[in-house]
Amino acid sequence: MDAQTNPKPPAAVIDGLEFPFSDYPAPGTATEVADGIFWISTPVPFVGLKQVNLWLLRDGDGWTMIDCGYIRDDVRAQITGIWDNVLEGRPVTRLIVTHFHPDHIGNSGWICERWGLRPRMTQGEWLTANLAVMNRHTDHVQSRGSFYRRHGLDEARVQRFLDGVVLYSDGVTLPPNYKRIRGDDLIPIGRDQWRVMIGEGHAPEHVSLYCPERRILVAGDQILPSITTNVSTWHVEPELDAVGVFLKTCKTFLDVLHPDTLILPSHRKPFRNVQHRLRQLAVHHAIRLNVILDKAGAETCAGDLIDVMFTPGLDGHQIGFAMGEAIAHLNHLVTLGHMRMIETKAQIRYQRISAKEKRVEPNFE
Ligand SMILES: [Zn+2]
Repeated sequence: MDAQTNPKPPAAVIDGLEFPFSDYPAPGTATEVADGIFWISTPVPFVGLKQVNLWLLRDGDGWTMIDCGYIRDDVRAQITGIWDNVLEGRPVTRLIVTHFHPDHIGNSGWICERWGLRPRMTQGEWLTANLAVMNRHTDHVQSRGSFYRRHGLDEARVQRFLDGVVLYSDGVTLPPNYKRIRGDDLIPIGRDQWRVMIGEGHAPEHVSLYCPERRILVAGDQILPSITTNVSTWHVEPELDAVGVFLKTCKTFLDVLHPDTLILPSHRKPFRNVQHRLRQLAVHHAIRLNVILDKAGAETCAGDLIDVMFTPGLDGHQIGFAMGEAIAHLNHLVTLGHMRMIETKAQIRYQRISAKEKRVEPNFE
C-alpha cells in the first residue's frame, strides 16, 4: 500500500484530524500503515496513557526498529511474536530511540542484545537515560518531592507522589553504549532518506524522523493527537521554560512539514492535518496560561494551581507530571513578562507583574 499514490478515505475525522486507521493493531500483530512501515502497539503501566507505538521499517536486507516499549513480559512476548511474523526471516539491523522515557527506551538493552546492535540516539537522550536509570537526575525522587514542596504542593500530595511514583529503573535496561545522531542528520532507510528533527519541551533532545518525499513523520511524543504531550519543568533545571521551547519546536514543525504529512505518533493513532493539530496545541497552551492568570491574583504558586489545571484524583505518578506542567506554564508566563519568580530556600512563588487585563494570545511564542 502506498499512502501517497493510493489515498484512502479516512476511517474517521475527529476534531479536525483525519485518522486513516480505525483500529489499533491487535496484540502481537503489526499493521502496515505505508509501504514497508509497520505499526505495533504495546501496553504501558501508566494510567491514562494506555499504550505506546513502535515502528518497523523495511530496510534493504534487514529492518529498522523505532522505539522499544516498556519492560514487561507481555510486551516482550508481543515484540518477539511480531519479529517472528513480520520480519520475513530478515534481522533487525538498526534501532533508533526517539527519547529517554521508559516506554520508548525500556527494552533497548534486550533488543540490542538480541540483534547485536547499539541504539542510535541523541547525546542528550542517552546521557539523561543513563542518569535516570541510576535514580539520579530526573529520577531522583526525593529531590523531586522537595522541589514540589517548595512549589507549594501540600504535604498529603507530596507523600502520594513519593509513594506512588513509578521508578524509571523499573521499566528500563540500557545497552552499554550507543551511536550518536544529531539534528538534520539524514538516515537512509530502505530507499528513503529520513531527516532527524530535534524537539524540545517534552525531553531534552527528542528525535522525530521526517521523510519529505513520502510525506511521513515518525513523530515520537513531540506531536500527539487526542492527548497533549507532557511539557514539564524538572527540579534539575528549575528555570526551564518548557512551554516556550515546546511551542518553538511546534513552529519549526509548522514551517517544515508538508500539510499532507501522515503523522505516526508514539501514542494513539496515525493522523493527518498536522498544521491544524499544531495550531490546536498553541491554543491549548494559551488557554492554560490564561487560566493561571485568572486564578493567580497578585501572587500564586504551582501547588495552588493543581486543582485549577487538572481533574481531581491524580495518582502519585500523575501528581509529578501535573506539578511539572504547572511549573512549566508559570515559567513561560515569566518569559512572556506576565510574572516574576520569587525564589527562597523554602519557597518558589510567582508574582503578577503585567496589568490585570493582559492576556496570552494563542501563538508560537
Ligand atoms: Zn515521552
